[in-house]
Amino acid sequence: MAVIVQKYGGTSVSNPEKIKAVAERVLGYSRQGHDMVVVLSAMSGETDRLISLANSMQDQPDTREMDVLISTGEQVTISLFAMAVKAAGFDAISFLGDQVKIHTSSLHTKARIEAIDTEKIKSHLKQGKIVVVAGFQGVDETGDITTLGRGGSDTTAVALAAALKADQCEIFTDVEGVYTTDPNICSSARKIERISYDEMLELASLGAKVLDIRSVGLAKRYKVPLHVRSTFVATEGTWVVEEDKEMESMLVSGVTYNKNEARLTISRVPDKPGIASKIFMPISDAGIVIDMIIQNTRAGDLTDMTFTVPRTDYKKALEILRKVAVDIGAEDVSSADNIAKVSIVGVGMRNHSGIASTMFHVLANEGINIMMISTSEIKVSCVIEEKYTELAVRALHDAFALDNKDIP
Ligand code: ASP
Ligand code: MG
Repeated sequence: MAVIVQKYGGTSVSNPEKIKAVAERVLGYSRQGHDMVVVLSAMSGETDRLISLANSMQDQPDTREMDVLISTGEQVTISLFAMAVKAAGFDAISFLGDQVKIHTSSLHTKARIEAIDTEKIKSHLKQGKIVVVAGFQGVDETGDITTLGRGGSDTTAVALAAALKADQCEIFTDVEGVYTTDPNICSSARKIERISYDEMLELASLGAKVLDIRSVGLAKRYKVPLHVRSTFVATEGTWVVEEDKEMESMLVSGVTYNKNEARLTISRVPDKPGIASKIFMPISDAGIVIDMIIQNTRAGDLTDMTFTVPRTDYKKALEILRKVAVDIGAEDVSSADNIAKVSIVGVGMRNHSGIASTMFHVLANEGINIMMISTSEIKVSCVIEEKYTELAVRALHDAFALDNKDIP
């Protein structure tokens, strides 16, 4: 008998039939004697709908009121789910974040979970009930409703699993797990059976959407084994767990890409102390997150600086950079938004050499020019022309034999 936390996403509970099907699935575990805590998202599309309602009231909706509004989607699904369980002849009870309680900071629409009271949940589990908790929400110290940021239900589930010292935390979604790359562009992409927290953090930050990155960080910190799997099939998904020897023997675990960035270059900048801060301070002051940065050296006392920003911030960043260029006496600003970042990730990179150079060789063989490179201990990223993304991903997936289960 185990304590199991299961989270079902919006596409898993998007109508009454699906809610009944999820209830049946959860009851299967209850019948085996497990203590079940179920975290639900709002029906798919509901949170978006609520946000657009708010936008029709106020240009910049008040964030406290926004949280009162957008926390309602989960209230609908948890109550319907509890009814579905009761209709099947079993007992369940639903709780909002402030009933549990899930204590958070006061930063509305972006709150952080600080603590969770578990007594109430435990006592209802003891009475044989399925406990259903609203994802994505909590309560601050003044009693106000808060939400955790989009996709926050994954974090609710992991935080509950950590607080309850649950045996496992399962995230049910509309895909079968984490893949070696995007199956939509590479037909030989394969579901990964086990992946380390660190690799999953890199994949999530590089654009894999299957898990919310904050939930992975939390799972790592509290050593919560995470199982990402599909609501619609019975097969096992991907386990996100602590690193082991077998994972290290894999050179590369996944290939990912991101087409949501743009590149900016400021050229022939006087090369002296303080120049980087003069360039990047106004950009970060505007709330723009910079990803990669490269500084070139030139003959003389001049330098070039190239960096990437999210494509949604491209125009704003370019405008700021043009002003900065005038202020600091740079000669030129150039930019492009038809770029993509292709990355390989794997803990095996820690103790195998030559992985980055293999990547460069593979791209060169396909005639793809590399514009920027960045690395971490377990990742290599290259910026290339956007139109070569699919070609690059397939070639790298092949070169690192990711379609082949048997090759370590
Ligand atoms: N319903 C919220 C959202 O759409 C939270 C979640 O689904 O994780 O972002
Ligand atoms: Mg989600």
